[in-house]
Amino acid sequence: MSIAATIQQINQQMPEGTRLVAISKYHPSSMIQEAYDAGQRIFGESHVQELQQKVGELPGDIEWHFIGHLQTNKVKYIAPYVALVHAVDTLKLMAEIEKQAAKCNRTINILLQLHVAQEETKFGFTPEECDAMLAEGQWKQMPHVCIKGIMCMASNVDDEEQVAAEFERAHQFFLSAKQKYFASEPSFCECSMGMSDDYQIAIQHGSTLVRIGSKIFGPRVY
Ligand SMILES: *Cc1c(COP(=O)(O)O)cnc(C)c1O
Repeated sequence: MSIAATIQQINQQMPEGTRLVAISKYHPSSMIQEAYDAGQRIFGESHVQELQQKVGELPGDIEWHFIGHLQTNKVKYIAPYVALVHAVDTLKLMAEIEKQAAKCNRTINILLQLHVAQEETKFGFTPEECDAMLAEGQWKQMPHVCIKGIMCMASNVDDEEQVAAEFERAHQFFLSAKQKYFASEPSFCECSMGMSDDYQIAIQHGSTLVRIGSKIFGPRVY
Protein backbone atom coordinates (compact mmCIF):
# COMPACT_ATOMS: atom_id res chain seq x y z
CA MET A 1 0.00 0.00 0.00
CA SER A 2 1.20 3.54 -0.68
CA ILE A 3 2.28 5.88 2.12
CA ALA A 4 -0.76 8.07 1.46
CA ALA A 5 -3.20 5.14 1.53
CA THR A 6 -1.76 3.77 4.77
CA ILE A 7 -1.98 7.13 6.49
CA GLN A 8 -5.58 7.48 5.35
CA GLN A 9 -6.40 3.98 6.59
CA ILE A 10 -4.85 4.60 10.01
CA ASN A 11 -6.64 7.92 10.36
CA GLN A 12 -9.96 6.24 9.62
CA GLN A 13 -9.35 3.81 12.51
CA MET A 14 -8.55 6.57 14.93
CA PRO A 15 -11.14 7.80 17.41
CA GLU A 16 -11.79 11.51 17.87
CA GLY A 17 -9.00 13.01 19.96
CA THR A 18 -6.31 10.52 18.95
CA ARG A 19 -3.56 11.70 16.62
CA LEU A 20 -1.02 9.96 14.44
CA VAL A 21 2.70 10.62 14.91
CA ALA A 22 4.40 9.27 11.78
CA ILE A 23 7.73 7.80 12.89
CA SER A 24 10.18 8.56 10.10
CA LYS A 25 13.51 7.60 11.69
CA TYR A 26 15.98 6.02 9.23
CA HIS A 27 13.71 6.91 6.31
CA PRO A 28 14.73 9.53 3.74
CA SER A 29 13.24 13.01 3.54
CA SER A 30 11.64 12.08 0.21
CA MET A 31 9.36 9.61 2.03
CA ILE A 32 8.51 12.17 4.69
CA GLN A 33 7.61 14.63 1.91
CA GLU A 34 5.30 11.99 0.44
CA ALA A 35 3.52 11.63 3.77
CA TYR A 36 3.40 15.41 4.11
CA ASP A 37 1.80 15.70 0.69
CA ALA A 38 -0.83 13.22 1.89
CA GLY A 39 -1.68 15.66 4.70
CA GLN A 40 0.44 14.28 7.57
CA ARG A 41 1.98 17.05 9.69
CA ILE A 42 3.30 15.35 12.85
CA PHE A 43 6.53 13.37 12.51
CA GLY A 44 8.65 11.63 15.12
CA GLU A 45 12.40 11.04 15.07
CA SER A 46 14.72 9.43 17.59
CA HIS A 47 18.20 10.67 16.66
CA VAL A 48 19.18 14.30 17.06
CA GLN A 49 21.58 14.53 14.13
CA GLU A 50 19.16 12.87 11.73
CA LEU A 51 16.35 15.14 12.91
CA GLN A 52 18.48 18.27 12.47
CA GLN A 53 19.23 17.36 8.89
CA LYS A 54 15.61 16.60 8.03
CA VAL A 55 14.33 19.81 9.62
CA GLY A 56 16.54 21.71 7.18
CA GLU A 57 15.23 19.79 4.18
CA LEU A 58 11.49 19.70 4.84
CA PRO A 59 8.56 22.15 5.12
CA GLY A 60 8.57 24.56 8.06
CA ASP A 61 5.08 23.73 9.29
CA ILE A 62 5.94 20.15 10.28
CA GLU A 63 5.42 19.45 13.98
CA TRP A 64 8.55 17.53 14.98
CA HIS A 65 8.36 15.17 17.95
CA PHE A 66 11.43 13.63 19.55
CA ILE A 67 10.53 10.07 20.54
CA GLY A 68 13.83 8.41 21.43
CA HIS A 69 16.10 8.45 24.43
CA LEU A 70 17.41 12.00 24.67
CA GLN A 71 20.85 12.69 26.10
CA THR A 72 21.09 15.87 28.15
CA ASN A 73 24.00 17.20 26.09
CA LYS A 74 21.85 17.10 22.92
CA VAL A 75 18.82 19.01 24.21
CA LYS A 76 20.26 22.32 23.06
CA TYR A 77 20.18 21.31 19.40
CA ILE A 78 16.46 20.60 19.26
CA ALA A 79 15.26 23.11 21.87
CA PRO A 80 14.55 25.92 19.35
CA TYR A 81 11.89 23.98 17.45
CA VAL A 82 10.89 20.62 18.98
CA ALA A 83 7.11 20.41 19.51
CA LEU A 84 7.04 17.50 21.97
CA VAL A 85 9.71 15.42 23.72
CA HIS A 86 8.08 12.02 24.33
CA ALA A 87 10.55 10.15 26.50
CA VAL A 88 11.62 12.27 29.47
CA ASP A 89 12.85 9.70 31.96
CA THR A 90 14.82 11.68 34.56
CA LEU A 91 14.46 14.91 36.49
CA LYS A 92 17.96 15.81 35.27
CA LEU A 93 16.79 15.69 31.65
CA MET A 94 13.75 17.77 32.56
CA ALA A 95 15.98 20.39 34.20
CA GLU A 96 18.16 20.59 31.09
CA ILE A 97 15.07 21.03 28.91
CA GLU A 98 13.99 23.84 31.25
CA LYS A 99 17.38 25.52 30.88
CA GLN A 100 17.50 25.29 27.09
CA ALA A 101 13.83 26.26 26.67
CA ALA A 102 14.46 29.37 28.79
CA LYS A 103 17.44 30.28 26.58
CA CYS A 104 15.17 30.01 23.52
CA ASN A 105 12.48 31.99 25.30
CA ARG A 106 9.89 29.27 24.74
CA THR A 107 8.03 26.52 26.55
CA ILE A 108 8.84 22.93 25.59
CA ASN A 109 6.13 20.28 25.84
CA ILE A 110 7.21 16.94 27.29
CA LEU A 111 5.82 13.54 28.23
CA LEU A 112 7.02 11.42 31.14
CA GLN A 113 8.21 8.03 29.99
CA LEU A 114 6.75 5.22 32.04
CA HIS A 115 8.37 1.83 32.30
CA VAL A 116 5.48 -0.65 32.33
CA ALA A 117 6.84 -3.42 30.07
CA GLN A 118 8.19 -6.70 31.40
CA GLU A 119 11.30 -6.24 29.33
CA GLU A 120 14.52 -5.06 30.86
CA THR A 121 15.25 -1.50 29.84
CA LYS A 122 17.19 1.23 31.52
CA PHE A 123 14.71 3.88 30.47
CA GLY A 124 11.54 5.23 32.01
CA PHE A 125 10.12 5.86 35.46
CA THR A 126 8.19 3.04 37.08
CA PRO A 127 4.73 4.35 38.01
CA GLU A 128 5.91 4.46 41.64
CA GLU A 129 9.04 6.44 40.77
CA CYS A 130 7.04 8.80 38.60
CA ASP A 131 4.53 9.44 41.37
CA ALA A 132 7.35 10.12 43.82
CA MET A 133 8.98 12.55 41.40
CA LEU A 134 5.70 14.40 40.86
CA ALA A 135 5.03 14.47 44.61
CA GLU A 136 8.44 16.04 45.27
CA GLY A 137 7.38 18.98 43.15
CA GLN A 138 10.67 20.26 41.65
CA TRP A 139 8.98 20.20 38.26
CA LYS A 140 6.78 23.07 39.43
CA GLN A 141 9.88 25.27 39.43
CA MET A 142 10.32 24.72 35.69
CA PRO A 143 8.17 27.33 33.99
CA HIS A 144 9.55 26.60 30.51
CA VAL A 145 8.58 22.92 30.66
CA CYS A 146 4.98 21.86 30.16
CA ILE A 147 4.25 18.26 31.19
CA LYS A 148 1.57 17.18 28.72
CA GLY A 149 1.14 13.57 29.87
CA ILE A 150 2.80 10.19 29.69
CA MET A 151 4.43 7.93 27.12
CA CYS A 152 5.13 4.21 27.27
CA MET A 153 6.14 1.21 25.22
CA ALA A 154 4.50 -2.15 25.82
CA SER A 155 6.47 -5.39 25.81
CA ASN A 156 7.29 -6.63 22.33
CA VAL A 157 5.31 -9.87 22.68
CA ASP A 158 2.44 -11.59 20.85
CA ASP A 159 0.39 -11.93 24.04
CA GLU A 160 -2.27 -9.28 23.46
CA GLU A 161 -3.57 -9.54 27.00
CA GLN A 162 -0.18 -8.68 28.40
CA VAL A 163 0.17 -5.72 26.03
CA ALA A 164 -3.34 -4.54 26.94
CA ALA A 165 -2.56 -4.85 30.66
CA GLU A 166 0.58 -2.72 30.26
CA PHE A 167 -1.24 0.02 28.36
CA GLU A 168 -4.02 -0.09 30.92
CA ARG A 169 -1.54 0.30 33.76
CA ALA A 170 -0.01 3.34 32.07
CA HIS A 171 -3.45 4.83 31.43
CA GLN A 172 -4.51 4.29 35.04
CA PHE A 173 -1.32 6.01 36.17
CA PHE A 174 -2.10 8.90 33.82
CA LEU A 175 -5.60 9.26 35.29
CA SER A 176 -4.38 9.17 38.87
CA ALA A 177 -1.55 11.65 38.19
CA LYS A 178 -4.03 13.94 36.45
CA GLN A 179 -6.25 13.89 39.51
CA LYS A 180 -3.42 14.26 42.05
CA TYR A 181 -1.11 16.77 40.38
CA PHE A 182 -2.73 18.31 37.30
CA ALA A 183 -6.40 18.62 38.24
CA SER A 184 -6.45 22.29 37.27
CA GLU A 185 -4.32 21.88 34.13
CA PRO A 186 -6.15 20.81 31.00
CA SER A 187 -2.77 20.66 29.22
CA PHE A 188 -2.06 17.35 30.99
CA CYS A 189 -4.05 15.37 28.43
CA GLU A 190 -1.79 13.09 26.37
CA CYS A 191 -1.06 9.37 26.49
CA SER A 192 1.53 8.45 23.84
CA MET A 193 0.99 4.72 23.45
CA GLY A 194 1.03 2.29 20.56
CA MET A 195 3.29 1.45 17.62
CA SER A 196 2.73 -0.40 14.30
CA ASP A 197 2.04 -3.76 15.94
CA ASP A 198 0.00 -2.68 18.94
CA TYR A 199 -1.63 0.69 18.28
CA GLN A 200 -5.11 -0.78 17.99
CA ILE A 201 -4.80 -2.17 21.52
CA ALA A 202 -3.36 1.14 22.73
CA ILE A 203 -6.33 3.05 21.30
CA GLN A 204 -8.68 0.85 23.33
CA HIS A 205 -6.76 1.82 26.46
CA GLY A 206 -6.81 5.57 26.12
CA SER A 207 -4.01 6.44 23.69
CA THR A 208 -4.15 10.00 22.32
CA LEU A 209 -0.92 9.78 20.28
CA VAL A 210 0.02 6.68 18.34
CA ARG A 211 3.61 6.44 17.09
CA ILE A 212 3.58 4.46 13.85
CA GLY A 213 6.63 3.92 11.67
CA SER A 214 7.11 0.69 9.75
CA LYS A 215 3.43 0.25 8.92
CA ILE A 216 3.57 3.53 6.99
CA PHE A 217 7.12 3.62 5.65
CA GLY A 218 8.07 -0.06 5.50
CA PRO A 219 11.00 -1.76 7.22
CA ARG A 220 13.86 0.46 8.41
CA VAL A 221 17.30 0.01 6.87
CA TYR A 222 19.86 0.73 9.57
C1 LIG B 1 10.74 3.32 16.28
C2 LIG B 1 9.76 3.69 17.32
C3 LIG B 1 8.37 3.62 17.08
C4 LIG B 1 7.77 3.13 15.77
O1 LIG B 1 7.88 1.74 15.68
P1 LIG B 1 7.16 0.91 14.51
O2 LIG B 1 7.09 -0.47 15.05
O3 LIG B 1 8.01 1.04 13.30
O4 LIG B 1 5.81 1.50 14.30
C5 LIG B 1 7.53 4.06 18.09
N1 LIG B 1 7.99 4.50 19.26
C6 LIG B 1 9.30 4.56 19.54
C7 LIG B 1 9.74 5.05 20.87
C8 LIG B 1 10.22 4.15 18.58
O5 LIG B 1 11.54 4.22 18.88
